[in-house]
Amino acid sequence: MRVFTGIAASPGIVVGRLKLVDRQRLSVTEYPIGADAAAAEIIRLKVAIETTRAALESLRADLDGTTCDDHLFIIDTHLLILADERLFVETASIIETGLINAEGALNRTLQKYRSTFEAIEDAYLRERINDVETVIEKILRTMTGENHDVIEPEEGQTVIAAHEITPADILQMDRSHIIGLVTEIGGRTSHASILARAFQLPAVAGVEGITSLLLDGAPVIVDGFEGTVTVNPERATFLDSLQRKRRYEYREFELLKIKDLPAETLDGYRMQLKGNVEIPEEGVSVLNYGGTGVGLYRTEILFMNRREMPEEEEQFLTYASMQMAVAPHPLTIRTLDAGGDKLLDGMPHLTEQNPALGVRAIRLSLNMRDEFKKQLRAILRVSSLGTVRIMFPMISGLDELRRAKALLEECKSELALAGVPFDRHIQAGIMIEIPSAVLMADLLAPEADFFSIGTNDLIQYTLAVDRSNEHLAEFFQPLHPAVLRSLRRVVEAAHTAGIDACICGEMAGDPLYLPILLGLGFDELSMGSASIPRVKHILRRCTRAQAIVIVAACSTFSTAAEVESYLKGEITSHFAESFD
Ligand code: PEP
Ligand code: MG
Repeated sequence: MRVFTGIAASPGIVVGRLKLVDRQRLSVTEYPIGADAAAAEIIRLKVAIETTRAALESLRADLDGTTCDDHLFIIDTHLLILADERLFVETASIIETGLINAEGALNRTLQKYRSTFEAIEDAYLRERINDVETVIEKILRTMTGENHDVIEPEEGQTVIAAHEITPADILQMDRSHIIGLVTEIGGRTSHASILARAFQLPAVAGVEGITSLLLDGAPVIVDGFEGTVTVNPERATFLDSLQRKRRYEYREFELLKIKDLPAETLDGYRMQLKGNVEIPEEGVSVLNYGGTGVGLYRTEILFMNRREMPEEEEQFLTYASMQMAVAPHPLTIRTLDAGGDKLLDGMPHLTEQNPALGVRAIRLSLNMRDEFKKQLRAILRVSSLGTVRIMFPMISGLDELRRAKALLEECKSELALAGVPFDRHIQAGIMIEIPSAVLMADLLAPEADFFSIGTNDLIQYTLAVDRSNEHLAEFFQPLHPAVLRSLRRVVEAAHTAGIDACICGEMAGDPLYLPILLGLGFDELSMGSASIPRVKHILRRCTRAQAIVIVAACSTFSTAAEVESYLKGEITSHFAESFD
């Protein structure tokens, strides 16, 4: 038995078998061959190309007609590259003249293509080298037998272990057999972890070195509460985990009994508890968990794993299905928040040195005016079906807010002229997740219809701690006094201007922070929907008066550790039973 410790990224306990996905470490060895071996190497190359083509064609046939068939063009592109005879002819010639093995020769062909592509001026065409790399990597893996590039589950209960799993991977994987995730990098608030929670896949991140150990196929327990991964568990550990899993499931089931009761404190302070969603199926689960709407719909998921941006009509239909799932409750649709760790295929920021500080979120939208307007029009059209709010991500100051609102007004006029219905009074709010927006909150509030704090990014940028870096987990401190001061400042600015102050970062769903958020006077908390029952359960046992006292005491401390130890003491003495 071996226990690995990492970061608890998505709750739950699962028992399954490990499948290693080692896409990062394809190592190609080049070695000399005799002249008499060249023909055999060339045949090996030909067979690998044909096998790769057959595998891609069969994948294409499997996906055709499924919900993924929008993405078939990616496979078509790869098939076209494989069909280009030059790839075979040039590599075969390297084998023959250079007398080296097929893998080495293919690697040399790739290097040659890389330098040819690097010289191309057009950024979009230059980046097409990615497709060539993917195809050559597939052929190399076929030759070396390391066919791990697609995250495909084995039959049964598979736990995927990989150096990195991207949000795009999670969307693409067949989740009917994959029951848990383990990664070497990433943190609790990285988007892959957020998606793992959305799909209720227990996950542990930051488990160093797990993919370099020969553990493929080993029985494993993933404990997404403790952040542990136990490989080859002993019987006693196995039984203990099963018992903990049952206890957890029973507690969750019990908590659901209060799902239809109001989210109200003992002294009558009501909060809106809403869900964060990524795909339309999640809209239903928000209501099943007792949420009263969606406080954050991350629309960027619709833009991932494809090269073309979705057209207005497709966006309209997707947002409309989310609206119908959530009705009669309000739906807050956030405009495209791409960039950072949510990369879109074929976009320029793929090559940025520092994507977290790059062309992302509202900056990207304002740069692509026409695409942005398509999204705004789609959202406006959905607003005719029920209560819909629009939310702009990563607003850094008034200029961006005004430019975004001007485009929204332009779209309204266009729709009005065309006689297309929409809600003329649709609320347009902003996410506060950049320190400059905190400092400008008093000036932003009169021009926004609501504020929603994205604590994941706000903490990242306030403390200069990469939210996805597993080595910095201890520095990502929601209770840092600088963060608490920011939260207070934003609520005060919002309430002075008479608008709602909401939180939709991960902090909203963690019961430890509830007394603080309640004491500060937030109107709405939006979280992964599975967290709603527990937060509501605790909220219904608190008083706002008590929370105000707690928050006043917290503001006297000067370090996150002091705040945390005080808060935990308060929780133990007042609400121990609710927090276990
Ligand atoms: C946040 O930053 O807190 C947030 C809710 O947005 P995202 O996690 O999608 O960046
Ligand atoms: Mg954010």
